[in-house]
Amino acid sequence: MILNELMQLLPRKIFAIEMLLVFEDIKPVCRIEIEDKTLDKLTAFCRTNNLALITSDFKFVKTQDGKAMMMPTNSPLKGGFFVYISKQKTDAIKAKDAEVALDHKTFGELLGYPACCIDFFIKHYEEAAKMHDDYTLLTLKNSESLDWRLNISLNFFDYRLISHFPHSFNCQESIALSQKILDVLTKHNPDLARKTKEELCTVIIYDDETGVHVIKNTKTEQNTIHYTDVMLTSPNRIFTLLKMSNKIKIITRNHLELYNDNVLTGELKGDVGILVFN
Ligand SMILES: [Zn+2]
Repeated sequence: MILNELMQLLPRKIFAIEMLLVFEDIKPVCRIEIEDKTLDKLTAFCRTNNLALITSDFKFVKTQDGKAMMMPTNSPLKGGFFVYISKQKTDAIKAKDAEVALDHKTFGELLGYPACCIDFFIKHYEEAAKMHDDYTLLTLKNSESLDWRLNISLNFFDYRLISHFPHSFNCQESIALSQKILDVLTKHNPDLARKTKEELCTVIIYDDETGVHVIKNTKTEQNTIHYTDVMLTSPNRIFTLLKMSNKIKIITRNHLELYNDNVLTGELKGDVGILVFN
């Protein structure tokens, strides 16, 4: 029941799951984004369920070009907050302070992330900053295989289990955490757990410039993937290319040839990677 209540209260399913994980003692703290109009209802929910809620010391307001601007919390402009939720008020405060201080180690520990992945995050922080703060290609480079439970590329589509960048897509600590999350989700909402698995077991093309492209209805034959559809976050040149093709030949994980049947339509290489999760 608690998960359904949270899903009605919060704008995204993945935020409702984050709160459930605190409730179920899988994570000490979660940090989610909410709109200011939700704050009173969420505060009341936390009071009823013995959870502490701390809000960020600023409000973020979206500008017309889609960027977020930091404003004082009492700003009359419509916006949102980060909220830190925990069973222990001191942990929620510590998490907020750690995030403000860019203390990634403490922040990651409070959010329940594995130590190996926190170390990886810190080690590659500057490198990732040059890649839109995204670790996908760095993690891919570190991965022998790709476990679907660690697919975090579908955030935007509101599906994920773990919320951190794993140090590899076969990180054992992250897989153990992800399995615990899946078990809790299955207990509370088996349909959503099934749907999450279905969505995460997928092929992704990640490009540093254009982001995530989800390749749908795939059939794999050795190093070739046949597909019928592709989903994206916003229109771009790679999406157009993928749309006019129906076959991906994997030369390496960072070098792909695209075909429409047997006609070569284009090539992707450089800061691009293919992630085949299974
Ligand atoms: Zn790890």
